[in-house]
Amino acid sequence: MARFLGAHTIDNGGLHMAVLRAGSAGMTAMQCFTAIPKFYGDKSTIKPERVAHFKTALAKTKIKPENVVVHGAYVLSVATPDDDKWLRASAGLTKELERSSALGVGSVCFHPGSALTSERSASTKRIAKAIVQALESIDSKTRLLVENTAGAGKTMGKTAEEVGEILSHVPKSLRGRTGYGLDTCHLFASGYDITKSQQALTAVLDEFESAAGEPPSFFHLNDSEGELGSNRDRHVLIGDGHIGKAPFEWLMEDRRSEGIPLILETPQLNYEIADDDDSADPYDLKMMKLLL
Ligand SMILES: [Zn+2]
Ligand SMILES: [Zn+2]
Repeated sequence: MARFLGAHTIDNGGLHMAVLRAGSAGMTAMQCFTAIPKFYGDKSTIKPERVAHFKTALAKTKIKPENVVVHGAYVLSVATPDDDKWLRASAGLTKELERSSALGVGSVCFHPGSALTSERSASTKRIAKAIVQALESIDSKTRLLVENTAGAGKTMGKTAEEVGEILSHVPKSLRGRTGYGLDTCHLFASGYDITKSQQALTAVLDEFESAAGEPPSFFHLNDSEGELGSNRDRHVLIGDGHIGKAPFEWLMEDRRSEGIPLILETPQLNYEIADDDDSADPYDLKMMKLLL
């Protein structure tokens, strides 16, 4: 089975430009936003012409639609105990799934947000309720995936057990349309030492697989600026952080990195790239060379 490697590319000039940049880099997977990630986007519907542009661009690349991940807005904190905020975040999550389904991509990933003052286990139920609402409202093949988090404050999705608990509240009939993915920086920052040895990394993946009842559906490949257990969500280029290159080589040898999107969310060199420039980012090319 193949490794599908890509990055969250820059969308200056539009979503289709992010696709073309991924194509220029020779990627076989990619990630993007479908709305501005600091807003709820709960009213934001995707226009048919944007969908058409996206699909035309994607057809010019080696990326299959199922290997495209949409990253949900950061503000969609469906873990929250505040009812009004939950309603809005939940509506936003449903809209994410609606837009991504229109694009025909494989999955949407999202950060569940913070439990704030509430019990963590009650929060896992609210997260699951939002997932269920989205899946029941939008019938499509696009999956809705929980991303593990760096664990700052009361952020949910910090441990294997917690990710498993969230998914356990989703009824069996919908369970196949959800799952989870793992971000290496978040794993390390939340206290999972994936750097000790290949066995240690394997054991962490085993722990998630057993708690969730399935392997991860994507990986985010990021080195960590913060130390082990620092709870800091700061991504740096692979080899420039506290994780180092070796764990990524181990990960590429693990069966669980086969057949799913492997997405770099590492810094880009050229954030100000011109709207009509579809060239690959040099940092992405450097990272891909290192991994493949
Ligand atoms: Zn993320
Ligand atoms: Zn991530």
